[in-house]
Amino acid sequence: MGNCYREELVGVFGCPIDENPTVVVAQAAFEDLGIPYRYLTILVHPEDLGTAMSALKALNMKGIHLTIPHKVEVLKYLDHVAEDAQIMGAVNTVYVKDGELYGENTDGKGFLTSLKEEGVSIEGKTAMLLGAGGASRAIAVELANAGAKKLLIANRPASGRGEVLTALVREKTKAEAEYICWDHKLSIPQEVDILVNTTNIGLYPDTDQKPDVDYNTIFPRMAVCDVIPNHPHTLFLKEAEKRGAKSIDGLGMLVNQAIISFRFWTGRTCSAEVMRKALSREYGIE
Ligand code: NDP
Repeated sequence: MGNCYREELVGVFGCPIDENPTVVVAQAAFEDLGIPYRYLTILVHPEDLGTAMSALKALNMKGIHLTIPHKVEVLKYLDHVAEDAQIMGAVNTVYVKDGELYGENTDGKGFLTSLKEEGVSIEGKTAMLLGAGGASRAIAVELANAGAKKLLIANRPASGRGEVLTALVREKTKAEAEYICWDHKLSIPQEVDILVNTTNIGLYPDTDQKPDVDYNTIFPRMAVCDVIPNHPHTLFLKEAEKRGAKSIDGLGMLVNQAIISFRFWTGRTCSAEVMRKALSREYGIE
């Protein structure tokens, strides 16, 4: 007698959500730490987000991840939002403390950690981002806050998102920002130190696709990064490696953003190695 059968509940709200693999890294990490946490993968339709967010308190959950399409909408249901997440206008992690909901964005921080792990410095550097969606916003703001000198933001003209993100970086951070209209094969300017694909080009099942870039303008001194987690060794990275550039895959970002989220929920630091191994097993990577 005296056993505790209750588990601490965390998870993710999204729509669609069926193929989100975060539960795999979460349960591996929690089991490794020996803590009774359960990560739930939950389908929440857009019109039910408010009800779902109040359920966090009612069910005494520790917190939740938000993914498509909830990262922006969730802000209106939070009691507190971290300053950088306010600038991004997006939250991917909520934790519950003393009955109040706190919003954070760990995507960009996870990306920065993956750069650090690979020995890439940001201070005074010029970075070019392909794409201007949610992942790009988080990465742009964190790069700027970490001391990047200049951001070049390339996006297709139709959505207007490239101009919006460029203006946001100029107004809300100390970095310079320039919009590049991406309606042609893109040459990478020689001032670029860090090149990041933040689009979903190359994401499973479209693994034979790569961004429309003149790969002969990539040079060995550049660090070339992809956010695509599945399959992580993208054609984009393979092309960069052929030109001698350092390549950094999206698994580092995925694992590191999760470690930061899990720290908010558990107060503990999960093992990156355990999580990476669990993902590699899941994706059948050696
Ligand atoms: P969004 O839909 O918000 O943004 C997608 C961006 O890609 C937009 O700028 C869009 O341009 C651009 N894009 C899409 N298709 C093309 C194309 N054919 N040519 C040129 N540009 C294109 O998505 P997210 O930012 O939320 O996600 C992007 C990727 O990041 C996904 O693959 C996701 O899996 C990954 N991701 C990885 C994480 C990790 O931890 N590794 C964390 C978060 C996301 P336009 O504005 O013109 O539509």
